[in-house]
Amino acid sequence: MQKMNDDLEKIKSRFAEEYQSFIDVGKGWHQIIINLDKALSKLDPNYKIYQIKEKFGGLRYYCSSDNNKLAREIISEAEKVADKTCENCGKSGKLVTNNGWYYTCCVDCSSPESKLAGGIGFRSDDN
Ligand SMILES: [Zn+2]
Repeated sequence: MQKMNDDLEKIKSRFAEEYQSFIDVGKGWHQIIINLDKALSKLDPNYKIYQIKEKFGGLRYYCSSDNNKLAREIISEAEKVADKTCENCGKSGKLVTNNGWYYTCCVDCSSPESKLAGGIGFRSDDN
């Protein structure tokens, strides 16, 4: 877990100055972002991140490598992986909707008992 936090801190240090260095996705996607950052930093060690967020249940990763064709392919591959990964816990998941909210999550996290319903408590955990 410590390793993952170190990796996330490294990613946060990569944000462009005028943007908030905030990884706005659930912890289930953190490993995807770490892998993505590693791949992108091989192409351009000095690339800058603008925004990492979830939109309509999908991962969005905006960075200075957006105009690089290979980088765009790497990002879209990671977004596809996120489409099938629970944003809450990292297990295999799919897109679900609830009261106009979209989540990609697994069966457990989309159960009525889950705090995910309606977004209540969705990101109130330790990330
Ligand atoms: Zn889950």
